[in-house]
Amino acid sequence: MTRYFWLLGKRWRLRFVRALRDALGDCDDELREIRVVEGLDGKERLRVMLHELVHAIDWHKDESYVDSVSRSMTNVLWRDGWRRGE
Ligand SMILES: [Zn+2]
Repeated sequence: MTRYFWLLGKRWRLRFVRALRDALGDCDDELREIRVVEGLDGKERLRVMLHELVHAIDWHKDESYVDSVSRSMTNVLWRDGWRRGE
């Protein structure tokens, strides 16, 4: 499944893929594409999507920053009751 979204005035593609090597998601700044492994659910899906969006917002931030920020946002949103509508 592929979706498109706008981020900071640029059009990005969000693709759900069967598998990725060594990751649940990735972000390509040049292609402006985020890929997320399909079938993720719950808090893990939220965390992976936020993680890749943080990369997309600022590609220059290092992995530990992105991981820390996305985990914090996940925890705040999860505790606030954010879940996928089915
Ligand atoms: Zn990352």
